[in-house]
Amino acid sequence: MDFKLTPEQERFRADLRQWLDAHGPGDWGRIRSKLATREAQAEFLIAWQRKLHAAGYVGLHWPTTYGGRGATVLEQAIFYEEMARARAPELPNAIGLDMAGPALIAHATERQKQAHLPKILSAEHIFCQGFSEPNAGSDLAAVQTRAERKNGYYVINGQKVWTSYAHYANWCILLTRTDPSAPRHKGLTFFLVDMASPGFTVKPLRQMSGDAEFNELYFDNLEVPAENVVGRENGGSPSCSSWPRPAGGRAMP
Ligand SMILES: Cc1cc2nc3c(=O)[nH]c(=O)nc-3n(C[C@H](O)[C@H](O)[C@H](O)COP(=O)(O)OP(=O)(O)OC[C@H]3O[C@@H](n4cnc5c(N)ncnc54)[C@H](O)[C@@H]3O)c2cc1C
Repeated sequence: MDFKLTPEQERFRADLRQWLDAHGPGDWGRIRSKLATREAQAEFLIAWQRKLHAAGYVGLHWPTTYGGRGATVLEQAIFYEEMARARAPELPNAIGLDMAGPALIAHATERQKQAHLPKILSAEHIFCQGFSEPNAGSDLAAVQTRAERKNGYYVINGQKVWTSYAHYANWCILLTRTDPSAPRHKGLTFFLVDMASPGFTVKPLRQMSGDAEFNELYFDNLEVPAENVVGRENGGSPSCSSWPRPAGGRAMP
């Protein structure tokens, strides 16, 4: 296998390096130590993502239809190398860019894609990931947060933990149990949740260092529109038949 970059990829690297030298904020470690609160850090990071987005450097391998650059994963790898070389800050919408966005590209309706994908890139919709619970960590099939369908809504009650970025996110990808009688790897549903909805509470988890990089999420009769289900009800597991799989692939047992 030939790992040499093509002339176009080398040019991409050179252009990016030049842009970072001219417009990058410098060493994030030093900048961070001068930003006293986590709110000030979040504000700085969001402005940084928007600057990179305006220059065309966010969503490099996302489709151009949704605001990406349509490049390959190699340009994305070069991007991370150059960001590390410049000691630039990470992008604050990591969950949106690396988890929610790719899941939506693969499984969402066109309406959901149009509503979220461009805004993930521009850091208008910042996502956090509500998967882990006090009794559901490595074993995600133990999720207990309950979602019950009532007319055009689901009513959600329960708790999540270790939620990175929730203190400045405004959207959450949320895994819930919709069918408690189903085998535990089934009966799960994946939602897009607007964190400004009544009944959604974020509580910081304070570490020994005094920092609070993680959070707990609490849901108290939180109402989420049925149109915010990604895939289908009880389809929040790769073993469900509605999930696309490679041609010739078979369903998991
Ligand atoms: C920096 C950080 C950020 C995170 N951010 C998020 C987030 O934003 N959203 C979110 O949903 N979650 C987040 N998590 C949670 C994370 O993804 C895991 O779900 C969680 O850390 C694992 O659960 P647990 O701590 O309850 O450990 P457990 O699942 O209880 O595991 C405890 C120990 O048992 C071992 N173990 C577990 N099962 C088995 C097994 N079957 N066989 C052998 N050994 C086993 C594990 O390896 C581990 O050593 C974050 C975690 C970290 C560390």
